[in-house]
Amino acid sequence: MSDKLIVCSPLRPEARAVRRGIGADGQVLRTGYGAARAATAADRLRGVTFKAMAIAGTGGGVTADQQPGDLVVGTQVSRIGSETSVACPSAPLLAAELRRAGLRADAGKIVTVDHLFAHGQRERLVAEGALAADMESAMLLDGAAGRPTVVVRAISDTPRRPLLSPWAVPGGIAALRSLRLAGPALARWAEACGPRRVLLAGPRSFCAGVERAIEIVERVLEQHGAPVYVRKQIVHNKVVVTDLEGKGAIFVDELDEVPDGATVVFSAHGVSPDVRHEAADRGLQTVDATCPLVAKVHVEARRFAADGYQVALIGHGGHEEVEGTLGEAPQSITLVETAEDVARLRPRDPAKVAYLMQTTLSTDEAGGIASALLDRFPGARGPGSDDICYATTNRQLAVRAIAAESDVVLVAGSTNSSNSIRLVETAERAGTPSYLIDGPEDIDLSWLTGASVVGLTAGASAPPAVVGQIIDALSGLGPVDVSERVVATESIRFGLPKELKQ
Ligand code: SF4
Repeated sequence: MSDKLIVCSPLRPEARAVRRGIGADGQVLRTGYGAARAATAADRLRGVTFKAMAIAGTGGGVTADQQPGDLVVGTQVSRIGSETSVACPSAPLLAAELRRAGLRADAGKIVTVDHLFAHGQRERLVAEGALAADMESAMLLDGAAGRPTVVVRAISDTPRRPLLSPWAVPGGIAALRSLRLAGPALARWAEACGPRRVLLAGPRSFCAGVERAIEIVERVLEQHGAPVYVRKQIVHNKVVVTDLEGKGAIFVDELDEVPDGATVVFSAHGVSPDVRHEAADRGLQTVDATCPLVAKVHVEARRFAADGYQVALIGHGGHEEVEGTLGEAPQSITLVETAEDVARLRPRDPAKVAYLMQTTLSTDEAGGIASALLDRFPGARGPGSDDICYATTNRQLAVRAIAAESDVVLVAGSTNSSNSIRLVETAERAGTPSYLIDGPEDIDLSWLTGASVVGLTAGASAPPAVVGQIIDALSGLGPVDVSERVVATESIRFGLPKELKQ
């Protein structure tokens, strides 16, 4: 396959603007105005060798919030009146790249119309879910013949600034400027195009504790109706939190934000006894979504403290789970984040030292700190069974397995998700660059340039659907061969709190 990017721009000023923006990184073809010329150009293009095709021109905006110069990247392109549309799956990747370049860009449907906007047409297109209209893209796309394609339309006119108005000229100028500025991002998109393998880590995504916590919020919403208050993020994932907010959950940082008489759910990371007492004093109804494996660490902390042990809690300061565990016996537990912290420990009785761990640590890192502790206090007692939970351990083993074979590893998860961050670190320790992303929009196209094998996993709090969205977006950059490396199978399920069992 030639490494050429072909850019189809219907009109001379559009082609000139794109050419100035893209320079030597793409070949810009002026394909002509309207459906007939676009169809002719598509016929010609089918016989041309190129790596990827972009369609870049101006277009009409259809929604009230659009401004001249906004860019719309087509997720689907259809001809007006047609039931079928052509998908351009990499649109979210390019739209995000354009936003990172400082441009206003959205990904959405583009409809190719036969005539410039007639009365009422914009409203009909909005009803169809479109963001922009043009007169050529649906026909030009035929020329791609299965090769990677994107469609970018720079808005020249909007419902408030229509074509036949004094705004037409400044609108056109704003659109051409945006087309020129979009050039470098289009070049980066083309560089990222090519066939690749996607190696999935197995297991990945939701663990039993996260599934249970989400189900608890959903059940409480069903039983009590919205709103339902949740103290802290139920799990550390933006997509999950946004979804539950849409269903009526309100996330608060502290109980003083919860109105009297309301129901409040405690998150999967657990809470300290002080929080439970405060809720009881306020007469709030509470439902506890603490993961049973976090609750197990709390029980161990209480038991060691009651037996007179000084407990070293290996974990990361400020994490909600750590705060909850520390709160179980504040006088008897000391947070230990590094081997240096171990050296600073001054237990009352060196013969009565115990240690516990945050459930979502790196097994390597936590093991090193535990060894340092055992070197210093050979008789130190550890947890009855591993505190780092099965889900954390399995996901780290799985990401290590794919990292060895990948050029880059993408980890779906939010920036405040401890277990997801540990997956990035684990892949990097294996020598492979790795990035944490909430979804396809966070992928910087430069990460994919030259990456023919992409490892993909998801933290225990990241929804499986996000993994599907990422694969879909990658498939817009060229053929994708997906395979999976399974290092463990998981069948653990946790029951719901008794008040929610029906
Ligand atoms: S990562 Fe482990 S401790 Fe955390 S919710 Fe999942 S199963 Fe529970």
